[in-house]
Amino acid sequence: MSSTLSVSMPAVNNTDRSAIAPLQVPDRLLLGPGPSNADPTVVAAMNHQPIGHLDPAYLQMMDEVQTLLRYAWQTRNPMTFPIAGTGSAAMEATLANTVEPGDKVLVGVKGYFGHRLVDMASRYQADVSTLHKPWGEVFSLSELRQGLETHRPQILALVHAETSTGVCQPLEGVGELCREFDCLLLVDTVTSLGGVPIFLDEWGVDLAYSCSQKGLSCPPGISPFTLSSRAVEKLQQRAAKVPNWYLDATLLAKYWGRDRTYHHTAPVNLTFALREALRLLAEEGLEARWQRHQQTAQKLWTGLADLGLTCHVDAAYRLPTLTTVRVPDGVEAKAVIRQLLTEYNLEIGGGLGELAGKVWRIGLMGHNSQPEKVETLLHALKQVLAV
Ligand SMILES: *Cc1c(COP(=O)(O)O)cnc(C)c1O
Repeated sequence: MSSTLSVSMPAVNNTDRSAIAPLQVPDRLLLGPGPSNADPTVVAAMNHQPIGHLDPAYLQMMDEVQTLLRYAWQTRNPMTFPIAGTGSAAMEATLANTVEPGDKVLVGVKGYFGHRLVDMASRYQADVSTLHKPWGEVFSLSELRQGLETHRPQILALVHAETSTGVCQPLEGVGELCREFDCLLLVDTVTSLGGVPIFLDEWGVDLAYSCSQKGLSCPPGISPFTLSSRAVEKLQQRAAKVPNWYLDATLLAKYWGRDRTYHHTAPVNLTFALREALRLLAEEGLEARWQRHQQTAQKLWTGLADLGLTCHVDAAYRLPTLTTVRVPDGVEAKAVIRQLLTEYNLEIGGGLGELAGKVWRIGLMGHNSQPEKVETLLHALKQVLAV
């Protein structure tokens, strides 16, 4: 039997030698659109043996993560917990749970992630309509009002921090507008949580999600998710089951709530990491954290101008966590990215979609939002661009 197996089994031969060599991970400074470097104490928090996902110590940790997440988002929503998956899983969870076939979903598209929301909503058979703005601009309240008047959606979806363009969509007043039109407000806070002011309850946000690997400085794979009581009501009034078993919030809430009913095996080590990342955020304090991000970004913007480079987004709407810089004429965007990585161990991002080849994307998120990291980047950029 073993000889038959050895014939059909793919063998590890000499050409695969690197695959059986001990793991080697290069040490990179991640100043792109994500992942960002994890805080060293967050990495240390992962370095434990797993414990059972129903162990009393773990259950307590889950409660603490929920408390810390509510603080980070400034919400009292009981249904607030992380989803096992990256930001896109939490994004999909918001739509999977609240969209019923034929529901009208209006998406404000002003970048790449707006398009992803459109794609996901349509897969749950929403009747999707869109509002558009050029990549690098934001929606005004009157444009949103007009959109709600025209389309009368059940859900309005907006990206708070559009990582593809570097704009921060103002959200003050949007929640009130949505209530006037009896509509839920869904907001992508993937690149804003932990770096940019967010007040979910004060702003009347009903559905929100984020990720771990950007402003929270945690490795990817576990993603904050929250529903307001209005959103939970819509979930409870569904005619049919949530069409996605893994992301069904009614099942997940039984595990995160008092019942503690097994749903899937929690990524316990990622929970350790997220708890530590959120603890660090609480220890620093939200206001200090937001201020630090603003000051570090300001230093970057000044330094880029000194190098003769131009930011793509108007200063009034510029995200402190992600800056888009225009690629100067005659410079090949990809070659600069490659050189920064190979010669400086430094990662920045290229443009997506409409902005491909036209901008670089520089992230200063969480642990990486520090003046020394800006200096390192500016120094490397100056040499690579020879300016
Ligand atoms: C990164 C990002 C996502 C997707 O998150 P993943 O963790 O990559 O799945 C969604 N929305 C925005 C605005 C993002 O920046």
